[in-house]
Amino acid sequence: MAWRSSGATNAELVDNLCRHDMITDARVRAAFLAVDRAHYAPRAPYQDAPQGIGHRATISAPHMHAIAVEHLLPFVVPDPDQQRAAPRVLDIGAGSGYLTHIFAELVGDRSGATVVGVDHIDALCALATRNMAKSTSGRAHLASGRVSFVVADGRLGAPAAEAAAGHFDAIHVGASAAALHPALLAQLRAPGRLFIPMDDDGADAQDPDGRRSQNVWTVDKAADGTITRKRLFGVRYVPLTDAPAVGEADND
Ligand code: SAH
Repeated sequence: MAWRSSGATNAELVDNLCRHDMITDARVRAAFLAVDRAHYAPRAPYQDAPQGIGHRATISAPHMHAIAVEHLLPFVVPDPDQQRAAPRVLDIGAGSGYLTHIFAELVGDRSGATVVGVDHIDALCALATRNMAKSTSGRAHLASGRVSFVVADGRLGAPAAEAAAGHFDAIHVGASAAALHPALLAQLRAPGRLFIPMDDDGADAQDPDGRRSQNVWTVDKAADGTITRKRLFGVRYVPLTDAPAVGEADND
């Protein structure tokens, strides 16, 4: 069971994620072992649960990160026989920066590989950068220029400068979207995959406690541009919203 994957150490957490089939791929396992979640989660980092990180944001539960990475993996790490040596990954709602770091481990030091983390709260982009700078590998990713955190409204995709460098093979959205925002689809490569939690449609789309229900989806763009949406399962993410007014989101 997903929520039973807690451990006493990072290695134990990763072992338990593997044991419960949340992580099945050796490359994903290696990336999760290489990034200490304690650098990103202020409390109980090895619990398989979301944790508040301030600014009304949460670092998602480890099993959700694992599931997201497993779904995006074929686009983050292309097959050697494909002509796509330089994967480009976009992490919208980067928050703590943890998942951005995991993606950076997976793309490795391939020339031209890029991971862009976007958050609309500048203090969180600063936090993500500080968190990444806690480890040798994180500092190397930042220094290489392969990884960057930018303040922007992720509903519009990556900002112009990052988008101009090319479309993205994989786009992860870490907050629940009210709709499939067209900019995200437009910035997806063909082929490419978007992993996105979305609010359910319809007046009766509610959780038992009255909140709008959500499902996570993969949206694939095939080489010929054909779009295929697949609903995976119900989730509870914080919403992808307007940026809070200055001062409003300083504390959790
Ligand atoms: N992947 C992150 C999740 C953080 S919670 C992690 O695991 O640490 C969701 C994040 O989405 C928050 O950091 C919040 O600030 C951000 N967010 C919400 N609406 C946004 C928007 N419109 N554009 C960019 N980021 C947004």
